[in-house]
Amino acid sequence: MQQLIDEILKDCRRFTEDGKVADYIPELAKANKSEIGICVTTGEKRYFAGDWNKPFTIQSIAKTIFLMLAVEDNGIDFIKAHVGVEATGKPFNAIDYAEPLLLRENINPMVNIGAIAVCSLVKAENYQQRFLRLLDFTKRITGNPDLKVDENVYYSEKKTGDKNRALAYLLKNSGMIEGRVEDLLDVYFAMCSVQATCADLANMALLLANHGMDIATGQQIISEKNATFMNAVLITSGMYDGSGEFATTVGLPAKSGVGGGIMANRPGHMGIGIYSPGLDKKGNSVAGIKMLEMLSQKLRLSIF
Ligand code: GLN
Repeated sequence: MQQLIDEILKDCRRFTEDGKVADYIPELAKANKSEIGICVTTGEKRYFAGDWNKPFTIQSIAKTIFLMLAVEDNGIDFIKAHVGVEATGKPFNAIDYAEPLLLRENINPMVNIGAIAVCSLVKAENYQQRFLRLLDFTKRITGNPDLKVDENVYYSEKKTGDKNRALAYLLKNSGMIEGRVEDLLDVYFAMCSVQATCADLANMALLLANHGMDIATGQQIISEKNATFMNAVLITSGMYDGSGEFATTVGLPAKSGVGGGIMANRPGHMGIGIYSPGLDKKGNSVAGIKMLEMLSQKLRLSIF
């Protein structure tokens, strides 16, 4: 297995050149697109190669964390009624939601507007507490107590994130969120700016692969029902408007972020963490998807 991981990384290194690093958040433009890493964990064994230990910001992978806590707090039916689960087929940062909001139709938790709404459903007394709860939960599911926010990326997005600001005001206007928009966005931006490694993502993915139970402690962190719900949402919309294609070539529940990370899992078997910051037009890691394609083909991982 270790040999396979080494070979896949070596073979996919050439694809790092094909992507483009995200630059709409200025700080992310500083990423080095030749970096590439992978970590696979079964709980008992861990395999890794390349820049697997290099921290990067999780970005949209935070959407998975918002949804995990929000669904534990509110239940699946509430989430479905509030934001829906249908794939939008739109880019992650699409802004044309006036009509769905007006009609109270689906907005999906894996695109920015839905994730901002879902973030507001994580129960807490105030925004600071909500952030701390989310960060603590992330430390728990990655098994990494040292996780922290990359302050430069956080401030960079806070300064330039007006499209997300517009989305949040649309939500506020339609009564989907309460309180100060800026406070909610602070939680959203800070969580997107949490730094993690491929190993952290692989651990987080393993929790979903293991039906919500932490293999190390035997503790049920999220309910089995909610873990199944999460994987269903990830397979249908975790790769934004590239989810259909990804389902046909890789066939695993996964979530990507514009920092270049991808978290994927094979239910019942393994968690996978990927990093390579060169992105395709949809905001997904080019070399990262290639590695997952090869891994899936070689090990026959597709759930289909
Ligand atoms: N923080 C980013 C944003 O909201 C996350 C987007 C992403 O990773 N696709 O634009």
